[in-house]
Amino acid sequence: MRNFCLSILLATGLITQTGIAQDAQHDYPIQPVPFTKVHFHDAFWAPKIEVNAKVSIPYTLQKCRETGRIDNFLKAAGKMPVGKITEYPFDDTDVYKLIEGASYSLQTKPDPELEKTLDTLISIIADAQEPDGYLYTFRTMKPDTLHPWISPKRWEKDPDLSHELYNSGHLFEAAVAHYLATGKRNFLDIALKNADLLLRDFGPGKAAYFPGHQVVEMGLARLYRVTGKKEYLDLAKFFLDIRGNGNIKGSEYSQSHKMVTDQHEAVGHAVRAAYMYTGMADVAALTGNKEYINAIQDIWKDVMEHKLYLTGGIGATGHGEAFGAAYQLPNMSAYAETCASIANVYWNSRMFLMNGDAQYVDVLERILYNGLLSGVSLSGDRFFYPNPLASMGQHQRSAWFGCACCISNMTRFMPSVPGYVYAKKENDLYVNLYVASTSDIELPAGKLQLEQVTEYPWKGQVGLLIKQAPSKSFTVRLRIPGWARQEAVPGSLYAFLDTQRKPIRILLNGKAIEYKMEKGYAVINRSWKKGDKLELELPLEIEKVIANQQVKDNINRFALQRGPIVYCIEGPDNKDNAVNNIVVDRSAGIQANYEPDLLNGVMVLTAKGSSTKRQVNTSTLLRSEQTVKAIPYYSWNNRGAGEMQVWIPYAESAAMPMPAPTIASKSTVSSSQKNPRMLKGMNDQYEPSSSQDRNSIYLHWWPKENTTEWVQYDFDQPQTVQSSKFYWFDDGPFGGCRIPAGYQLLYEKEGNWVPVEVEQQDAITKDAYNSIRFKPVKTKGLRLEVKLPEKHSAGIHEWIVN
Ligand SMILES: [Zn+2]
Repeated sequence: MRNFCLSILLATGLITQTGIAQDAQHDYPIQPVPFTKVHFHDAFWAPKIEVNAKVSIPYTLQKCRETGRIDNFLKAAGKMPVGKITEYPFDDTDVYKLIEGASYSLQTKPDPELEKTLDTLISIIADAQEPDGYLYTFRTMKPDTLHPWISPKRWEKDPDLSHELYNSGHLFEAAVAHYLATGKRNFLDIALKNADLLLRDFGPGKAAYFPGHQVVEMGLARLYRVTGKKEYLDLAKFFLDIRGNGNIKGSEYSQSHKMVTDQHEAVGHAVRAAYMYTGMADVAALTGNKEYINAIQDIWKDVMEHKLYLTGGIGATGHGEAFGAAYQLPNMSAYAETCASIANVYWNSRMFLMNGDAQYVDVLERILYNGLLSGVSLSGDRFFYPNPLASMGQHQRSAWFGCACCISNMTRFMPSVPGYVYAKKENDLYVNLYVASTSDIELPAGKLQLEQVTEYPWKGQVGLLIKQAPSKSFTVRLRIPGWARQEAVPGSLYAFLDTQRKPIRILLNGKAIEYKMEKGYAVINRSWKKGDKLELELPLEIEKVIANQQVKDNINRFALQRGPIVYCIEGPDNKDNAVNNIVVDRSAGIQANYEPDLLNGVMVLTAKGSSTKRQVNTSTLLRSEQTVKAIPYYSWNNRGAGEMQVWIPYAESAAMPMPAPTIASKSTVSSSQKNPRMLKGMNDQYEPSSSQDRNSIYLHWWPKENTTEWVQYDFDQPQTVQSSKFYWFDDGPFGGCRIPAGYQLLYEKEGNWVPVEVEQQDAITKDAYNSIRFKPVKTKGLRLEVKLPEKHSAGIHEWIVN
């Protein structure tokens, strides 16, 4: 029965296994070749997808159990006492995303045990669904004591934070994936019952709440493709059209400040935004709506020109997990959430399917190999939520997060990677990604069996071997990546220092052939025969990338890229475990060398550079030559926390030199703040540009308020001291820290802390050093007691002692 359902749908061309309708007239003109038809056997992706199946999926399932996410459903079904519940009303979605990832995984690797586990989970979910289709454990479990984000009236607080429709959206996505993988309707029926409730509750003349966190739009489009029920598509469009267009006040945060068709810039929460742009693309493809397309094309240009990290990450600021202003791309405090990278892949893949332009795949490839892949450790069980581009050791992948969105999202995304390799439009075959693989592709011209032979991304040679050819001719469109044409990104945000184009060669059966370029593709049309071999030789040069001068965080710095891989320098590969003090000349020669035993096998880059160190009583830096080694950015932080940088200084002014030997830098730091990673900030001699500078380590006591806290220097030997200077951390108006309400300085005297006798003391201000002068004392240490403000916390960038 299960195969029957699926094969009928596939045979009738209504859907493919990715759930995209084949009827090109009412959907994307280009259709992806489903990932089930593309089998990776390469050394880069295949092992990572295997780790996802063997480690990440079971691990996430175990964590969902341990944290009570599955119990939430049992409690909603009345099968367990409610007691203590999990933290967020969207915790249900982790279970849905897990089922989605496991379903994808089942399509390529049948696993009866896993399929049974999913069936059990699905029956638990079914029991938690209310009779009319409503499915939201946080209300059903405790209808009388609701979480503050939830209104007693269903949906009422969805535009704000209840996430009822967000839960529905992930339910729809997961249910379709499970149905297509197994042919079983058990999960799909739950989703349809929920979707039919939405049809009854929402629409013109009914409830008009816009979804506070988008994703239901994509989910409804997917349900429409599987069922053909047009009301689902209409509802997706309704949810888009009521944004910024009703009685409910919207905000930039949730992209509801204007009607979606009036939006031309990327603003607000980056995951919400990119899911919405993806949903707009889906609805536009299915309805032919031109206004949506115009809006998302403008927004895409805005992101490319102003708001994209070199790693493909989006969302510059942790405040609202949001896009920043144009060119606001800080490295150390970069947010670049893993979910936002996944959403950005979805969005760019849809833009490609709509336009057939390789520039979208260029961006997709950049995200995939860098800012998305960094989200998971090589071991598959540690995860980044933000993906910073620089670190002083304060960042570390976590085993879990209270808000676990990125983890479950990663597990569902990884098995789908083979689905981004090929796409087709009639008899045109788009070759978008280069991965050693075999594929079975159905074209109108006939059956095609294709093998890709390549060691991409480390080598630029790609062989395409025709194992079985259709009887009629067809066209191969080979993507010539932007990086191979000396174009770092579409637009002017990043550029390669070397603008000289290198030759790209395409050979057919060993002989160079003529081809024309169209929208970034080399187009080759002919009548192909079994045994034909098409070879592509891409110039895999090491490129130095420079950022637009308006990105102030990247001034006097370059980054390294080789093929699609963005590099970083990390502590363990460099002298003294330090990289923030490194300077490499702009003209330095760089070598590439493959290290099979490092980080599961990576191409490393090396150059001559120097380390910088401050000196006492002079501003001249001490420089010493050293070899500088860079590794792929995605592979950083697999050897513990430490220093890392993507943007390497080529001028001393951009470096963070090692501290000079001063009383402070030679001291041992301790504090009532127990996070040891923050202590280094006190005496690192980093000059903050302002109190809210977050491009370095600072010590803070957030979320404590209105308490007295301390930080202490134990000198390496008794010193006579008579002054100190403090640079306070203050991230107002949005952050939680302000300058202290007061402070007191004490010195160590025979085992006791005694206040110094103050002779002069500056007022406490931000954005400058505040000094204090006192009667000289000979002591083994100083202790600073900080009185936190009544309603805020406080922090310190630097403490100088003389
Ligand atoms: Zn996330």
